[in-house]
Amino acid sequence: MSDNKIAWVTGAGKGIGEVIAVKLAETGINVAVSARTEADIQRVAASIGEKGGKAIPVVCDVTKPDAIREAVSHIQQSLGPISILINNAGAAESQKFLSHDEALWQRMIDVNLNSVYHVTKAAAPGMVEAKWGRIINIASIASKVGGKYIVAYTASKHGVLGLTRALALEFAGYNVTVNAVCPGYVDTPLTDKAIANIASRTKLSEEEARYSLEKISPQARLITSEEVAHVVLMLIGENARGITGQAINVDGGAVMF
Ligand code: NAD
Repeated sequence: MSDNKIAWVTGAGKGIGEVIAVKLAETGINVAVSARTEADIQRVAASIGEKGGKAIPVVCDVTKPDAIREAVSHIQQSLGPISILINNAGAAESQKFLSHDEALWQRMIDVNLNSVYHVTKAAAPGMVEAKWGRIINIASIASKVGGKYIVAYTASKHGVLGLTRALALEFAGYNVTVNAVCPGYVDTPLTDKAIANIASRTKLSEEEARYSLEKISPQARLITSEEVAHVVLMLIGENARGITGQAINVDGGAVMF
Protein backbone atom coordinates (compact mmCIF):
# COMPACT_ATOMS: atom_id res chain seq x y z
CA MET A 1 0.00 0.00 0.00
CA SER A 2 2.98 2.29 0.56
CA ASP A 3 3.98 2.52 -3.14
CA ASN A 4 4.50 6.22 -3.71
CA LYS A 5 1.78 7.21 -1.27
CA ILE A 6 2.14 10.58 0.40
CA ALA A 7 -0.04 11.62 3.31
CA TRP A 8 -0.70 15.04 4.82
CA VAL A 9 -1.90 14.97 8.42
CA THR A 10 -3.08 18.32 9.80
CA GLY A 11 -2.92 18.98 13.53
CA ALA A 12 -0.25 16.29 13.86
CA GLY A 13 1.76 17.99 16.60
CA LYS A 14 0.06 15.99 19.35
CA GLY A 15 -3.00 13.93 20.22
CA ILE A 16 -4.84 11.93 17.58
CA GLY A 17 -2.99 13.52 14.63
CA GLU A 18 0.42 12.59 16.01
CA VAL A 19 -0.57 8.94 16.39
CA ILE A 20 -2.12 8.85 12.90
CA ALA A 21 1.08 10.30 11.40
CA VAL A 22 3.26 7.74 13.21
CA LYS A 23 1.02 4.80 12.21
CA LEU A 24 0.90 5.90 8.55
CA ALA A 25 4.70 6.20 8.49
CA GLU A 26 5.03 2.71 9.98
CA THR A 27 3.31 1.33 6.87
CA GLY A 28 5.95 2.99 4.64
CA ILE A 29 3.89 6.03 3.64
CA ASN A 30 5.79 9.34 3.46
CA VAL A 31 4.09 11.82 5.77
CA ALA A 32 3.83 15.60 5.95
CA VAL A 33 3.39 16.29 9.67
CA SER A 34 1.68 19.62 10.01
CA ALA A 35 0.47 21.96 12.77
CA ARG A 36 1.11 25.51 13.96
CA THR A 37 3.81 24.81 16.54
CA GLU A 38 7.16 24.08 14.92
CA ALA A 39 8.71 22.36 17.94
CA ASP A 40 5.83 19.84 18.10
CA ILE A 41 5.96 18.82 14.45
CA GLN A 42 9.75 18.67 14.43
CA ARG A 43 9.61 16.28 17.38
CA VAL A 44 6.99 14.07 15.66
CA ALA A 45 8.82 14.06 12.31
CA ALA A 46 12.14 13.29 14.02
CA SER A 47 10.66 10.38 15.98
CA ILE A 48 9.28 8.95 12.71
CA GLY A 49 12.73 9.36 11.12
CA GLU A 50 14.45 7.62 14.04
CA LYS A 51 12.23 4.58 13.46
CA GLY A 52 13.18 4.45 9.77
CA GLY A 53 10.16 6.27 8.36
CA LYS A 54 10.08 9.37 6.22
CA ALA A 55 8.37 12.54 7.45
CA ILE A 56 8.72 16.26 6.98
CA PRO A 57 7.47 18.93 9.37
CA VAL A 58 5.25 21.58 7.73
CA VAL A 59 4.12 24.58 9.74
CA CYS A 60 0.54 25.38 8.72
CA ASP A 61 -2.33 27.12 10.45
CA VAL A 62 -5.41 25.57 8.83
CA THR A 63 -7.44 28.72 9.42
CA LYS A 64 -5.22 30.59 6.94
CA PRO A 65 -5.92 29.83 3.25
CA ASP A 66 -2.59 31.35 2.10
CA ALA A 67 -0.64 29.18 4.53
CA ILE A 68 -2.57 26.14 3.27
CA ARG A 69 -1.67 26.82 -0.36
CA GLU A 70 1.98 27.31 0.62
CA ALA A 71 1.94 24.05 2.58
CA VAL A 72 0.57 22.12 -0.39
CA SER A 73 3.27 23.38 -2.74
CA HIS A 74 5.97 22.72 -0.12
CA ILE A 75 4.74 19.14 0.38
CA GLN A 76 4.52 18.53 -3.37
CA GLN A 77 8.06 19.80 -3.92
CA SER A 78 9.53 17.89 -0.96
CA LEU A 79 7.63 14.59 -1.12
CA GLY A 80 5.48 14.54 -4.27
CA PRO A 81 1.72 14.67 -4.92
CA ILE A 82 -0.53 14.23 -1.89
CA SER A 83 -2.59 11.06 -2.19
CA ILE A 84 -3.91 10.77 1.38
CA LEU A 85 -5.32 13.73 3.32
CA ILE A 86 -6.18 13.49 7.00
CA ASN A 87 -8.14 16.57 8.08
CA ASN A 88 -7.51 16.21 11.79
CA ALA A 89 -6.70 19.72 13.12
CA GLY A 90 -9.46 21.01 15.32
CA ALA A 91 -10.35 22.56 18.62
CA ALA A 92 -13.22 22.34 21.09
CA GLU A 93 -14.43 25.22 23.21
CA SER A 94 -17.49 25.04 25.40
CA GLN A 95 -19.77 27.78 26.64
CA LYS A 96 -23.46 28.20 27.41
CA PHE A 97 -25.20 29.40 24.23
CA LEU A 98 -26.62 32.60 25.68
CA SER A 99 -23.28 33.69 27.09
CA HIS A 100 -21.04 32.77 24.20
CA ASP A 101 -19.84 35.54 21.98
CA GLU A 102 -19.61 35.63 18.21
CA ALA A 103 -15.84 35.27 18.30
CA LEU A 104 -16.16 31.78 19.84
CA TRP A 105 -18.70 30.77 17.17
CA GLN A 106 -16.38 32.06 14.43
CA ARG A 107 -13.30 30.32 15.92
CA MET A 108 -15.05 26.94 16.00
CA ILE A 109 -16.43 27.26 12.46
CA ASP A 110 -13.03 28.41 11.17
CA VAL A 111 -10.84 25.78 12.81
CA ASN A 112 -13.18 22.79 12.48
CA LEU A 113 -15.20 23.40 9.29
CA ASN A 114 -13.77 26.16 7.07
CA SER A 115 -10.34 24.53 7.53
CA VAL A 116 -11.59 21.24 6.05
CA TYR A 117 -13.02 23.14 3.08
CA HIS A 118 -9.81 25.09 2.39
CA VAL A 119 -7.36 22.22 2.99
CA THR A 120 -9.37 19.80 0.86
CA LYS A 121 -9.82 22.37 -1.93
CA ALA A 122 -6.04 22.80 -2.05
CA ALA A 123 -5.04 19.13 -1.76
CA ALA A 124 -7.74 17.31 -3.74
CA PRO A 125 -6.96 18.37 -7.34
CA GLY A 126 -3.89 16.11 -7.49
CA MET A 127 -5.92 13.12 -6.26
CA VAL A 128 -8.62 13.68 -8.87
CA GLU A 129 -5.96 14.01 -11.56
CA ALA A 130 -4.21 10.81 -10.39
CA LYS A 131 -7.56 9.02 -10.06
CA TRP A 132 -6.56 7.76 -6.61
CA GLY A 133 -7.07 9.40 -3.28
CA ARG A 134 -8.24 9.07 0.29
CA ILE A 135 -9.68 11.98 2.26
CA ILE A 136 -10.43 11.24 5.89
CA ASN A 137 -11.99 13.85 8.13
CA ILE A 138 -11.62 13.42 11.86
CA ALA A 139 -15.11 14.49 12.86
CA SER A 140 -16.79 13.55 16.16
CA ILE A 141 -19.87 11.99 17.64
CA ALA A 142 -20.79 15.70 17.84
CA SER A 143 -21.22 15.36 14.06
CA LYS A 144 -24.25 13.18 14.75
CA VAL A 145 -25.82 14.25 18.05
CA GLY A 146 -26.20 17.51 19.94
CA GLY A 147 -24.50 18.21 23.22
CA LYS A 148 -25.08 20.84 25.91
CA TYR A 149 -22.72 23.86 25.96
CA ILE A 150 -21.04 22.95 22.66
CA VAL A 151 -23.36 24.53 20.10
CA ALA A 152 -20.56 25.97 17.94
CA TYR A 153 -18.42 22.81 18.06
CA THR A 154 -21.47 20.65 17.29
CA ALA A 155 -22.54 22.84 14.36
CA SER A 156 -19.01 22.83 12.93
CA LYS A 157 -18.67 19.04 13.21
CA HIS A 158 -22.15 18.44 11.71
CA GLY A 159 -20.94 20.62 8.83
CA VAL A 160 -17.90 18.40 8.36
CA LEU A 161 -20.20 15.43 7.90
CA GLY A 162 -22.28 17.23 5.25
CA LEU A 163 -19.11 18.17 3.40
CA THR A 164 -17.86 14.57 3.63
CA ARG A 165 -21.04 13.09 2.17
CA ALA A 166 -21.47 15.59 -0.68
CA LEU A 167 -17.81 15.40 -1.69
CA ALA A 168 -17.86 11.59 -1.62
CA LEU A 169 -20.48 11.72 -4.38
CA GLU A 170 -18.59 14.29 -6.42
CA PHE A 171 -15.35 12.28 -6.28
CA ALA A 172 -16.89 8.81 -6.62
CA GLY A 173 -15.94 8.56 -10.30
CA TYR A 174 -12.29 9.36 -9.63
CA ASN A 175 -11.40 6.56 -7.17
CA VAL A 176 -11.12 9.20 -4.44
CA THR A 177 -12.99 8.22 -1.29
CA VAL A 178 -14.11 10.71 1.35
CA ASN A 179 -15.00 9.47 4.81
CA ALA A 180 -15.31 10.71 8.38
CA VAL A 181 -14.18 9.07 11.59
CA CYS A 182 -16.34 10.06 14.55
CA PRO A 183 -14.66 9.50 17.92
CA GLY A 184 -16.24 9.85 21.33
CA TYR A 185 -14.02 11.36 24.02
CA VAL A 186 -10.39 10.44 23.26
CA ASP A 187 -7.53 10.52 25.77
CA THR A 188 -5.61 13.52 24.33
CA PRO A 189 -4.41 16.98 25.43
CA LEU A 190 -7.72 18.37 24.07
CA THR A 191 -9.69 16.20 26.49
CA ASP A 192 -7.28 17.09 29.33
CA LYS A 193 -8.25 20.73 28.71
CA ALA A 194 -11.95 19.84 28.75
CA ILE A 195 -11.47 18.01 32.07
CA ALA A 196 -9.64 21.00 33.62
CA ASN A 197 -12.43 23.25 32.35
CA ILE A 198 -15.18 21.09 33.90
CA ALA A 199 -13.27 20.95 37.20
CA SER A 200 -12.83 24.74 37.24
CA ARG A 201 -16.51 25.43 36.54
CA THR A 202 -18.04 22.80 38.83
CA LYS A 203 -17.38 21.31 42.24
CA LEU A 204 -15.95 18.17 40.65
CA SER A 205 -12.32 17.16 41.17
CA GLU A 206 -10.28 16.50 38.01
CA GLU A 207 -10.67 12.77 38.63
CA GLU A 208 -14.47 13.13 38.92
CA ALA A 209 -14.53 15.38 35.85
CA ARG A 210 -12.61 12.72 33.89
CA TYR A 211 -15.07 10.06 35.05
CA SER A 212 -18.00 12.26 33.92
CA LEU A 213 -16.60 12.05 30.38
CA GLU A 214 -15.67 8.36 30.62
CA LYS A 215 -19.18 7.37 31.59
CA ILE A 216 -20.65 8.93 28.42
CA SER A 217 -19.38 5.74 26.77
CA PRO A 218 -21.18 2.47 27.58
CA GLN A 219 -17.65 1.07 27.93
CA ALA A 220 -17.02 3.67 30.66
CA ARG A 221 -13.64 4.71 29.30
CA LEU A 222 -11.94 7.18 27.00
CA ILE A 223 -11.03 6.04 23.50
CA THR A 224 -7.31 5.92 22.64
CA SER A 225 -5.76 7.73 19.66
CA GLU A 226 -4.54 4.31 18.45
CA GLU A 227 -8.18 3.18 18.07
CA VAL A 228 -8.93 6.20 15.87
CA ALA A 229 -5.76 5.60 13.82
CA HIS A 230 -6.80 1.97 13.34
CA VAL A 231 -9.91 3.06 11.42
CA VAL A 232 -7.84 5.51 9.36
CA LEU A 233 -5.46 2.70 8.36
CA MET A 234 -8.40 0.53 7.39
CA LEU A 235 -9.90 3.33 5.22
CA ILE A 236 -6.73 3.96 3.22
CA GLY A 237 -6.44 0.32 2.12
CA GLU A 238 -7.16 -0.78 -1.44
CA ASN A 239 -9.98 -3.02 -0.23
CA ALA A 240 -11.69 0.02 1.34
CA ARG A 241 -12.24 1.61 -2.08
CA GLY A 242 -15.96 0.88 -1.84
CA ILE A 243 -16.31 2.69 1.47
CA THR A 244 -17.11 6.34 0.81
CA GLY A 245 -19.36 8.98 2.31
CA GLN A 246 -19.38 7.08 5.59
CA ALA A 247 -18.99 8.32 9.15
CA ILE A 248 -17.60 5.60 11.37
CA ASN A 249 -18.08 5.99 15.10
CA VAL A 250 -15.27 5.01 17.49
CA ASP A 251 -17.06 5.68 20.75
CA GLY A 252 -17.59 2.46 22.71
CA GLY A 253 -21.22 2.36 21.53
CA ALA A 254 -22.27 5.81 22.77
CA VAL A 255 -23.99 6.71 19.49
CA MET A 256 -25.61 4.06 17.29
CA PHE A 257 -26.10 5.66 13.87
P1 NAD B 1 -5.38 18.10 20.48
O1 NAD B 1 -5.71 19.47 20.96
O2 NAD B 1 -4.83 17.12 21.45
O3 NAD B 1 -4.45 18.21 19.21
C1 NAD B 1 -4.92 19.00 18.13
C2 NAD B 1 -3.83 19.29 17.17
O4 NAD B 1 -4.36 20.21 16.20
C3 NAD B 1 -2.65 19.99 17.81
O5 NAD B 1 -1.44 19.61 17.17
C4 NAD B 1 -2.96 21.46 17.53
O6 NAD B 1 -1.81 22.28 17.52
C5 NAD B 1 -3.56 21.36 16.14
N1 NAD B 1 -4.30 22.55 15.78
C6 NAD B 1 -5.26 23.19 16.48
N2 NAD B 1 -5.64 24.29 15.82
C7 NAD B 1 -4.93 24.32 14.66
C8 NAD B 1 -4.85 25.20 13.58
N3 NAD B 1 -5.59 26.32 13.53
N4 NAD B 1 -4.00 24.92 12.57
C9 NAD B 1 -3.24 23.82 12.59
N5 NAD B 1 -3.23 22.95 13.61
C10 NAD B 1 -4.06 23.21 14.64
O7 NAD B 1 -6.72 17.51 19.84
P2 NAD B 1 -7.16 15.99 19.57
O8 NAD B 1 -7.97 15.54 20.73
O9 NAD B 1 -6.03 15.19 19.10
O10 NAD B 1 -8.21 16.26 18.39
C11 NAD B 1 -7.91 16.04 17.01
C12 NAD B 1 -9.21 16.06 16.24
O11 NAD B 1 -10.09 15.07 16.74
C13 NAD B 1 -9.97 17.40 16.31
O12 NAD B 1 -10.53 17.70 15.07
C14 NAD B 1 -11.05 17.10 17.33
O13 NAD B 1 -12.18 17.90 17.16
C15 NAD B 1 -11.34 15.65 17.03
N6 NAD B 1 -11.96 14.93 18.14
C16 NAD B 1 -11.34 14.87 19.35
C17 NAD B 1 -11.98 14.21 20.39
C18 NAD B 1 -11.39 14.13 21.77
O14 NAD B 1 -12.10 13.70 22.69
N7 NAD B 1 -10.13 14.45 21.97
C19 NAD B 1 -13.24 13.62 20.17
C20 NAD B 1 -13.82 13.70 18.92
C21 NAD B 1 -13.18 14.36 17.91
